[in-house]
Amino acid sequence: MVYTGRFAPSPTGPLHFGSLLAALASYLDARAHNGHWLLRIEDLDPPREVAGATDSILRSLEQFGLTWDGEVIRQSHRHAIYNDILTQLTEYGATYRCSCSRQTLLKRSGDTFYDGYCRNHPPPQDAQCAIRVHCEQDYPFDDRIQGAQQFSHRTEDFTLFRRDGLFAYQLAVTIDDAQQQITHIVRGSDLLDSTPKQIHLQRLLGYHQPAYAHIPVATNTLGQKLSKQNFAPALDDNQARQLIIRALKFLGQQPPTELADSSVEECLIWATHHWDITAIPKTTGFILEEC
Ligand code: GLU
Repeated sequence: MVYTGRFAPSPTGPLHFGSLLAALASYLDARAHNGHWLLRIEDLDPPREVAGATDSILRSLEQFGLTWDGEVIRQSHRHAIYNDILTQLTEYGATYRCSCSRQTLLKRSGDTFYDGYCRNHPPPQDAQCAIRVHCEQDYPFDDRIQGAQQFSHRTEDFTLFRRDGLFAYQLAVTIDDAQQQITHIVRGSDLLDSTPKQIHLQRLLGYHQPAYAHIPVATNTLGQKLSKQNFAPALDDNQARQLIIRALKFLGQQPPTELADSSVEECLIWATHHWDITAIPKTTGFILEEC
């Protein structure tokens, strides 16, 4: 199988330093393996979308020299596919309807971990429902950066379709990774606990399991993950070379000082040739003040 990697941003705002890390690490890992690198816009959640964010993400990737292969896939164009596969899972008896809101769950068990209530108490036909998948076990896996992963409790019956009528991330991402024949996933470690859920769906649907690598997450001075919700500043496209060098250092790579005078393309060529995934730290105390 040809190495095929991907970057899958949600268009909830412009790229920031945290998303640059995921883009750069997945790009370099793909290119270092002479692989393909695909781009997928995860626009599943219109209320969280920011107008113009997709265009701004594509523009920034171009400015940073991160050129993708093939067509850009948009999840908003793939609802019919998600619906077919969800129907298939329901016909297998792998799913059930659930009317519990987050508040109901908190009141009942004091936790947001789903306790399987609606499995044994089917909601009335006219109730507004999510669709959950039965999950009886956990799925240990080996992460190329984080090592052996074993979760202490079984994965909850997570949602495939949300009560507000939207397809859930876990369903869409698993289908898309399989249909795009992704062999290697490199992304932020904030998604580590999504991986057993995605492996569960891969097993149910007979999909190949990709290799996983979860990079450490960059935090701001308050220790919060850099994210659009925490107002991480947008990347300055005019500082592409400096930001790539900074990202390489964050990822444990050792760019030579001479790179500071070279072009973005030269930086990426150097980084592809010297890419060492084993040098990436599992976690980082590295705090970014102004990125
Ligand atoms: N769309 C997700 C995000 O922007 C990433 C999904 C993934 O890489 O699996 O956080």
